[in-house]
Amino acid sequence: MRIAVLRETQPGEARVALVPESVKKLVALKARVTVESGAGAQAGAADDDYLGAGAEVTAERDAVLSSADVLASVNRPAEGDLRRLKRGAVLVGFLRPLDEPAALAPLAELYVTSFAMELVPRITRAQAMDALSSMATVAGYKAVLTAAERLPRMFPLLMTAAGTVPPARVLVLGAGVAGLQAIATARRLGAVVDAYDVRAAAGEQVRSLGANFLEVDLGGIETEDKGGYAKELTPEALERGRQLIAKQARNSDVIITTAQVPGRPAPLLVTDDAVAGMRRGSVIVDLAGASGGNCALSRPGEDTDANGVRVMCPLNLPATVPVHASQLYSRNVTAFLSPLIKEGQLVIDMTDDVVGPSCVTHQGAFVNERVAAALEAAASR
Ligand code: NAD
Repeated sequence: MRIAVLRETQPGEARVALVPESVKKLVALKARVTVESGAGAQAGAADDDYLGAGAEVTAERDAVLSSADVLASVNRPAEGDLRRLKRGAVLVGFLRPLDEPAALAPLAELYVTSFAMELVPRITRAQAMDALSSMATVAGYKAVLTAAERLPRMFPLLMTAAGTVPPARVLVLGAGVAGLQAIATARRLGAVVDAYDVRAAAGEQVRSLGANFLEVDLGGIETEDKGGYAKELTPEALERGRQLIAKQARNSDVIITTAQVPGRPAPLLVTDDAVAGMRRGSVIVDLAGASGGNCALSRPGEDTDANGVRVMCPLNLPATVPVHASQLYSRNVTAFLSPLIKEGQLVIDMTDDVVGPSCVTHQGAFVNERVAAALEAAASR
């Protein structure tokens, strides 16, 4: 079997799906790997590194596609690329199956078996394949550095001969994987950190990182589903959160927002009024832009100025740390693919409790119920 890696073409993308370290592991499993020339250039992996790891490297993009049994990608490839794949080929990558299900229709039509890294279940056995967590970790870290770079103040408390500089105050909304990494990074830079999440379990994790957990009485409603994810709140509960956030925003130099509810639009947490109450020079970094954003003034993919408050809504922060983001992603993809390779052959067992749920299209049909429902909902809109 042949695994292929292309140069990513999405604007601003600098990551690569497989780094040489992973190629070596796949070659040891008797897979052959073909890499498009330059695919790892921005992620610290030169063509020679791939050759040294046992891959073949070619500048012929069409040949890479037409010979692939498995295409490993970061982003969903353009339709023109998908149409060059063999019937029955396998695609693994971030495919945005719940956000843009209709864009995956060509995969069914072309009889491509596709696996979305977003759908890998968060069970213990699949932890090494959890690419969402890997990318959220990078994004949480970089969001704080982005804010620190923009903020016209310093983060740490400094006691100097010229007097004392107070520490920056950072508010983190949503204490999942990205939020916890943002808290840890802001703390390392010396900021005083407050955090808010609707899941009570997040409180202990926030406090263990040295941050203050903001408690809101949400009226005793259930806020967490069986999988440990947040549920969509009632309008009243959301409003209580927003009021607390608006109050806290007045004393915050930086707000990092990361709140998401799987398959739903991101909750609105920072209102126009909350932004208006912030000091000039303050910075908001909204990491929920892909699902609409947590701040009323966020424009996905843009930086805006709201009366002196900078509202940033970057859509692909992991791509700005391409070496480590690629390394982590590549390990996740390799952990997913390795069990499917038996004696150099691809063996797909759809009854497997990781493989089955991660699959979007197989043998000409959408096989994932959630994606099929999202497709239907999109078609009826
Ligand atoms: P996510 O990206 O879906 O959401 C980020 C955070 O936003 C979550 O903590 C969520 O509770 C919070 N949120 C949602 N609505 C909110 C609101 N209205 N106000 C404030 N906060 C709100 O979440 P994630 O980072 O992917 O992680 C979610 C959960 O999954 C966590 O419990 C995490 O520990 C768990 N998890 C488990 C595994 C695993 O077992 N392998 C891996 C990663 C994450």
